[in-house]
Amino acid sequence: MIAAPAVAGADLRTIMPVTSRPPVVMVRGEGSWLWDQEGKRYLDFVQGWAVNCLGHCPAVIRAALAEQAERLINCSPAYYNAPMARLATLIAETSGLGQVFLCNSGAEANEGAIKLARKWGRRHRGGAFEIVCMDHGFHGRTLATMAASGKPGWDAIFPPVVPGFHKVPLGDIDAVAKAIGPATTAVMLEPIQGEAGVLPASDDYLRELRALTRERGVLLILDEIQTGVGRTGRLYHYEHAGVVPDIVTLGKGLGAGVPLAALVASDAASCFEFGDQGGTFGGNPLMAAVGVAVLETVREPDFLHGVTVKGQYLARRLAELSAELGHAEVRGRGLLLALELVDTDAVKVARSAMDRGLLVNAPRPTSLRFMPSLTVSMDEIDQMVDLLRASFP
Ligand code: PLP
Repeated sequence: MIAAPAVAGADLRTIMPVTSRPPVVMVRGEGSWLWDQEGKRYLDFVQGWAVNCLGHCPAVIRAALAEQAERLINCSPAYYNAPMARLATLIAETSGLGQVFLCNSGAEANEGAIKLARKWGRRHRGGAFEIVCMDHGFHGRTLATMAASGKPGWDAIFPPVVPGFHKVPLGDIDAVAKAIGPATTAVMLEPIQGEAGVLPASDDYLRELRALTRERGVLLILDEIQTGVGRTGRLYHYEHAGVVPDIVTLGKGLGAGVPLAALVASDAASCFEFGDQGGTFGGNPLMAAVGVAVLETVREPDFLHGVTVKGQYLARRLAELSAELGHAEVRGRGLLLALELVDTDAVKVARSAMDRGLLVNAPRPTSLRFMPSLTVSMDEIDQMVDLLRASFP
C-alpha cells in the first residue's frame, strides 16, 4: 500500500472514494504537460478524458474566463445573457440544428435528450417512450443515462433500473430495424464508443440508421460528448457520414476543461414546454464565454485539418509500434484512438507509463486509449511513442 500524499490544510480521506486514484496530487498544467506536487512532469494523452481540447490552461480560455469574470459571472438562467446567446447561435449555425439547451455535464445533456425524446413520443408518436441503445454504450451516470448505457453489470448496481431502453449490438442495422416498434421514440448511440474501448460505428451504418429512423418515424440521437467539438477532425463526427441527427449532445471538449455541455435539437424535435427542463447553472455567462472561445478557436482556418493530420500521424506511429511489439489493431478517428494489445495487461502498461511520466488510459483490459489535446505537437506524439515503448513489460 503506497501512502497517500500530504496536502497542506487538507485531509484526502474526506474525498468520497468513488474511484481508485494514484498517490499523486496534480498542481499545474500547460499544453500537453501536467505537473504533480513533487515536481514530476507528465505528458498527458488523457487530457481529462478528452476534455481539455486546447490543452492545459490555454491562453484563450484564461482570457475568456478573466474577461467574463470581470463583467458577469452569473445572473440566473431566468435571464438572457450575451455569452449564452452567442454560444447557442454558434452551435446552431455549425450543427444544422436550431435549438440549444446549455447545461453542465454530459450526463445532464443526455438526460435532457432522453426527456426530450419521451416528450416528443408523447406528442407525436402516440405515447412512444422507448429508446433503442447500443450494447457497451456509455451515456453517463445518472439513473436514466446508466439505464441507456450498455455497460455489462450496470443494471445490477442501483435497482430498479429506469425502464424504456432496449439494447442492440453496435453495427447491426437489422437488429435496430427489429427493435423499433410502436413504443419506440428514438435510437441513441455514440458515433465512436469511447468508454467501451474506442469502437467506431461505420459511416455506412450511421447513414443506414439515419434512413431507417426517418422511414420508421423515430428520432436519431447522437451522443457526441466524446467525439464532438473537433476531436475526430470534423466539428461534429456526424459530418464524416454526411448525415444530421435530430438530437445531438455535446460536453467534454465544449468547455475545454470547465463544466459545460449542450443538448441540441432540430426545430421539429424541440418540444419542451416551460418548466420541462432547466437547471441553476445552465447557460451561465462564465462557462458560456469559455464555450464561445473554444468554438471560435476550433473553427479557425486549418485547425481541424491539423487535427486530421496529427491524428493520422499518431495512428501511423502507433501502428508501427504495434507491429514492432507484436500487438494488434489501431482504431478510432482523428485524435481519439485505441491500440489493441495481445496477451498484455493494458492497465499495467498504463501504470508503468505513469511511472515514466506518460498519462494514457486503459478503458478495457486489453486496450489503451489516446486522447491528447487537439493542439498536441508532432514532437509530443514522438515523445509519447518513445515513453510508451519503454512502458511495455
Ligand atoms: N457520453 C459519453 C459518450 C461520454 O464519453 C461521457 C463521459 O465520459 C458521458 C456521456 C458523460 O459525461 P459526463 O461525465 O460529463 O457526465
